[in-house]
Amino acid sequence: MSEILVKAIDVTKRFTGFTALDRASLDIRKGEVCCIIGPSGSGKSTFLRCINMLERIDGGAIWIGGELLGYRRDGDRLYEMRDSEIARQRRRTGMVFQRFNLFPHLTALQNVTEGPIHVLGEERKAAADHARELLARVGLADKMNHYPSELSGGQQQRVAIARAMGMRPELILFDEPTSALDPELVSEVLDVMKDLAESGMTMVVVTHEMGFARGVADTVAFMEAGRIEEVGPAKKVLSEPDNARCAAFIRAVH
Ligand code: ADP
Ligand code: MG
Repeated sequence: MSEILVKAIDVTKRFTGFTALDRASLDIRKGEVCCIIGPSGSGKSTFLRCINMLERIDGGAIWIGGELLGYRRDGDRLYEMRDSEIARQRRRTGMVFQRFNLFPHLTALQNVTEGPIHVLGEERKAAADHARELLARVGLADKMNHYPSELSGGQQQRVAIARAMGMRPELILFDEPTSALDPELVSEVLDVMKDLAESGMTMVVVTHEMGFARGVADTVAFMEAGRIEEVGPAKKVLSEPDNARCAAFIRAVH
């Protein structure tokens, strides 16, 4: 088995008077696709946002590639990281949101090159070559100079995936990437994600697409009320889960 890339131990996140994540623990191995399923409000987005450091955690710890997120060690003491270090750590992880969040005033190509040029400091030409390659890979070779408003939801989401890949992340988090799409556009996005999975990208995917989970995921985690109630091989969790509420959830979304 490949090495562990993400290790979350007892991650707790509270919002005023409310525990959104309650000691959530999960290992994600390099090259693995992990689907997170569970009812609305169970903490799935919050968990991804903690891994991507969009939220500060209140308890527990997360490591990516053996590096503790948000803290540095000095002797036997831990210190909070500076913003610049947090920004560096955040770049290890790409994120694709339910709403595509493209820059509306930039073309598809410019959406993909913006981060590599301005954040990673890549040469304009090299960034554009890489972006063209990525846009071709997501099936948008003929749409590179289109603005988001000139693209369908499925095309915009594929640009968002290319944009995430342009930052050369070690893993990509997807938060319900197809749930804002018209039904006929869902499969073109799932196909791109499947291709990405087959290329060996480590992916954590919050989704209600059970067909995708069944066909592509290596592991599935079921969340409820801020807890990871069941996690294991996709086949096992999706067909014979131990947790009765996980079984009921899977029956209901089918
Ligand atoms: P899911 O993605 O599984 O639907 P979320 O992670 O979005 O669930 O939310 C988990 C719970 O935390 C919900 O009850 C939600 O209302 C609450 N929550 C999420 N973000 C915030 C926030 N910024 N402030 C207060 N409560 C929040
Ligand atoms: Mg959510």
